[in-house]
Amino acid sequence: MNALNPLRCERKNLWSKFIWIGLVILNGCSSRSADNVLHEPSNEKTISVVTTIGMLADIVREVGGEHVSVTQLMGPGVDPHLYKPNRDDIQSILDCDLVFYAGHHLEGKMAATLEKIKNQKPIIALSERLDDKSLILDDQSQVDPHLWMDVSLWTGLLDPIAAELQRVSPEHSGVFESNSKMTQQRLIQLHQYGLNAIASIPESQRTLITSHDAFRYFGRAYNLEVLGVQGISTESEAGLQRINELVDMITLQQIPAIFIESSVPQKNIDSLIEGSRARGHSVSIGGELYSDAMGESGTPEGTYLGMMAHNIKTVTKALGGSAKEFPLVEHGSLQDVK
Ligand SMILES: [Zn+2]
Repeated sequence: MNALNPLRCERKNLWSKFIWIGLVILNGCSSRSADNVLHEPSNEKTISVVTTIGMLADIVREVGGEHVSVTQLMGPGVDPHLYKPNRDDIQSILDCDLVFYAGHHLEGKMAATLEKIKNQKPIIALSERLDDKSLILDDQSQVDPHLWMDVSLWTGLLDPIAAELQRVSPEHSGVFESNSKMTQQRLIQLHQYGLNAIASIPESQRTLITSHDAFRYFGRAYNLEVLGVQGISTESEAGLQRINELVDMITLQQIPAIFIESSVPQKNIDSLIEGSRARGHSVSIGGELYSDAMGESGTPEGTYLGMMAHNIKTVTKALGGSAKEFPLVEHGSLQDVK
């Protein structure tokens, strides 16, 4: 669950062992796994990259193509706000060429680990490479880290990713640039799909209620009012007052559907349904959304493109709009979806 496709690179920085000796037990140089050999082009070393969330792993694979091998620390259903790195994760970080994480406190429990090693190899908080102004929401006291929820914002990561890969492997600059451009085209299509779909929801029903505040950029980009039971981090518990406020709103506005999230327990959403029912309004679960983690690997939702297309379609249909399937296969997707 924690280490998907654990592709190990050769350990180069012997000195890093001494710094981490208290955290991990090192067992000598590891040999490359059979998995790694399968993914690696012949006669050429790939750039080994570690990412935290799946959405980053996916976009890095798209930009890097066959020249990267990516280890994703957080799998499907894993909550990045609460995730603590295990021994294998630390080893992967020590072994790789490059680490990408989101930053802006998304990986709340990993900050200390990344901080300790950041002077030893490139560890890049990708969200923090974007212009802060684009990340500011109206009522914000801190930057919201869930920027993948606005596809146009997420597209902004392509250039920094390509630049970092080029730094490690300048001979493949052209490939990274052209992969980046191709990915950008697909993301523009996805963004337009989101705009069209959400616009089909009757205006009075454009309210999205979910387990935690992961969808505020989604709301800003696609024109929905968005409310979460918990705040922008799941580290803080929802209070009874918040549940009551939302029940008031659901019953007053006759909201037809609210949404669970794949990486957050359902109990708060159940409280809203029960509370609304007690007031005589029946609200249903509109579906499960992928907020802070993608779906299972090998499924359409196991890619960024598929995850966002699923979210857009699920929200649109449950709130009374209409959306066709986003064409994941015809034009090629961020990953091949068979
Ligand atoms: Zn979150």
